[in-house]
Order: sequence, then structure tokens, then C-alpha cells
Amino acid sequence: MQNWYQIIPKNTGLSSYIWIIFCLLPFFFIFRSSSVTEIIFGFFMIILFFLSYRLSFISNSRMVYVWVSIEMAISITMTLLFGYIYFALFLAFFIGNIQRLSGFLTLYIVHLVTTAGTIALVFFMQNEALFPQLPFVIICLIGVILLPFTMYYRIKREKLEGELEDANEKISQLKVIEERERIARDLHDTLGQKLSLIGLKSDLAGKLIHKNPTAAQNEIHDIRQTARTALKEVREMVSNMRGARLEDELLRVQQILQAAEIKLHTEGSPEFGQTPLLVENVLSMCLKEAVTNVVKHSQASNCRIIIDQPPDEVVLRISDDGTGLSERNISLSGHGLQGMRERLEFVNGSLELTSNHGTTLTIRVPKVIQQSKQEELK
Ligand code: ATP
Ligand code: MG
Repeated sequence: MQNWYQIIPKNTGLSSYIWIIFCLLPFFFIFRSSSVTEIIFGFFMIILFFLSYRLSFISNSRMVYVWVSIEMAISITMTLLFGYIYFALFLAFFIGNIQRLSGFLTLYIVHLVTTAGTIALVFFMQNEALFPQLPFVIICLIGVILLPFTMYYRIKREKLEGELEDANEKISQLKVIEERERIARDLHDTLGQKLSLIGLKSDLAGKLIHKNPTAAQNEIHDIRQTARTALKEVREMVSNMRGARLEDELLRVQQILQAAEIKLHTEGSPEFGQTPLLVENVLSMCLKEAVTNVVKHSQASNCRIIIDQPPDEVVLRISDDGTGLSERNISLSGHGLQGMRERLEFVNGSLELTSNHGTTLTIRVPKVIQQSKQEELK
């Protein structure tokens, strides 16, 4: 919606400066007149035109025709009396904004006929007002013919593009919902069953513990085994989840650093071939937290992100040239670094912090998720 004071048409392909000239031009034409009555009459005509022009944008469908009729009448009068024909362009633009085909075509034809008729009449009446501006009159007539169609199709295209964007957004929302449902189903099928088994076996072990301690011990052994299998399955399931890609995260941190006026240098490719998505998700989260820390705490002016991929692991190094870390700071710390460590532990990765003319975080994650040795031995 345009602002209340705005009568300059948008999206016409013409610069708004040209429209400003069109707005001021009628005053020039009427002030050329010799009689004061004509000047006053012309002045009110112009004001009335702009007023009804503005109203035609904000009125409901029926009133629009009333305002357009008034505008057409004023346009014809202005052409006949003062040789000013450019209101026809304003009208042509407005008609292009009407999206009901019948209304559009009716007004288009009426406007074209009246404009052409008025111009012919002015020439016929031997009024010399239009002769000096003949090239502009022709341009204006071409505008009256073409502008409504250009506007009509442009608005239609923009509307379709908007709808397409909405549809795409809905598709991505549906994809998220579908993914959530899949995860819920998998959780129910794998974890649900194993947890009920653990519950049943714990009850049994509770009952057996005094009567038959050996049988109870066996049950507890089973419970441990079931829990371990469940954990393994959850890992597998999570590793198939879709989530943040490192490539996308890299773009986001680039924007954050740019906003903080910290120069970013990157090395290595964020594309991983066979690496599980879970590893990539964890790396993305670590990258986000590390860069947030650089922005929040380091006062650095440069940040370097290096992604290295030796055959069996991914090494992500984030360094800055800021204040550096001190033990005291880390011990006062929030949850960022701790969270990073915990997530990395889940995928058997590691985090190393060094502080030498700034801070360097080195994150290593193996490319294959395995049960940790410790867990397997238990
Ligand atoms: P949170 O992440 O929970 O919002 P936080 O950023 O303070 O809070 P951590 O991310 O754990 O917590 O960081 C711990 C502390 O280490 C920070 O308070 C800060 O003093 C220091 N620190 C972390 N990264 C840097 C860095 N790049 N440069 C200087 N100091 C840092
Ligand atoms: Mg932090």
C-alpha cells in the first residue's frame, strides 16, 4: 500500500523524478494562460485530479469507476483547454493496476478511445497548443496503449511469484514436519520397545534380588545390554537426521563477523563426501559457538577458519587475533565451551584450546561414528 501522500506511481519502469515532472507540469501549462479565471479553474482541476487519483487507489471496487470517470473528464478538459495531455499517462498506469480482466479491458478501451479522440479533436480544432509538443503527444499515446498492459502483466507476474514463494515455503515446512514424524516413529519403534523391556526386566530383577540373586544379576546384565543397544540405535538414528550443514553455517558466521567488522579468512572446503550428517551438524554447532565467542569476547580484528580433512577425520580450526583466553575466564565461563565438549564427546571428537596472540580452537572429529572403546568394554 502506498503512503497517503504518495501519488507517484511505483513499478512503472519510469524514474520517480519523471513522475514528479509530470506532477508539476500541469501547473506550468495553466500558468501560461492569460486569464485569471482559467488559472483558478485549472488549478482546482489539477488538485481534484490528484485527489481522485489518490482515492482511486484506496477505494473499493465500485467507487474506483467513479474516480476514474472523474479523472478521465478532467484529463479531457485539461487537454482541450490547456493542451495538457499527460494526465492520460497517470490514468494508463492506474488502469494497469486493475486486476479484474473485464474492468481492465473496459477502462482500457474507454481511456484509449477518449484520449485518441481528444487529441484528434484538439488537432481538428486547429488548436496550436499541441503542435510544438507533437513528439511528446505521440509518446504519450504509445504510453496509453502499452503502459496498462505492461503494468497488468507485471502485477500478475509479481503475484504469481509471491504465490510460488509461499508454496515453496510451505513445502519446506512440510518437509520439516515429515522429518519430525519420521523421527517420532523411529523413536517409538526403537526406543519405546527397548525402554519397556528395561522397565519389565528391572521389575523382575527387583523381585528376584532376595530370592534368587544369580537370576537377578542376569536380568541386570540384560538391562545393561539392552540400554547399550538402545544407545547405539539412537546414535544411528541421529546420524541420519537432516540438520544444519557446515556450508550454510559458514555463510551465516560470515554475516555475523561482517556485522562485527571482523575480517574472515577461510581455508579448506566445507563439503564432506561420506561423513555422517551428525558429524557435520555437531561441527556446525561448534563453529557457530566458536564464532559467537570471537565476536562476544575476543575484540579481534581477524578471524581464521580452517577446515582440514585428513583421510579419517575432520579438523576444524577457528583462530582469532584478539585478547586470548585465560584460565580464570574459562573457569568463570558460561555453557558454550562446555556444550561444545559434550556434543563432541557424543561423536568421539575432541576440543583443544590454545591461547597465543589470540585464541585458537582445534576441533577434531573422526569421520566414522563408532561406539567408544570404553563403552564396548563395559
Ligand atoms: P555462553 O556461551 O554460555 O553464552 P560464554 O560465551 O561466556 O557464555 P563460553 O562460550 O563457555 O561462555 O566461553 C567461556 C569464556 O571463555 C568466556 O566467558 C570468555 O571469557 C572466554 N572466551 C571464549 N572464547 C573466547 C575468545 N575467542 N577470545 C577471548 N575469550 C574467549
Ligand atoms: Mg559462548
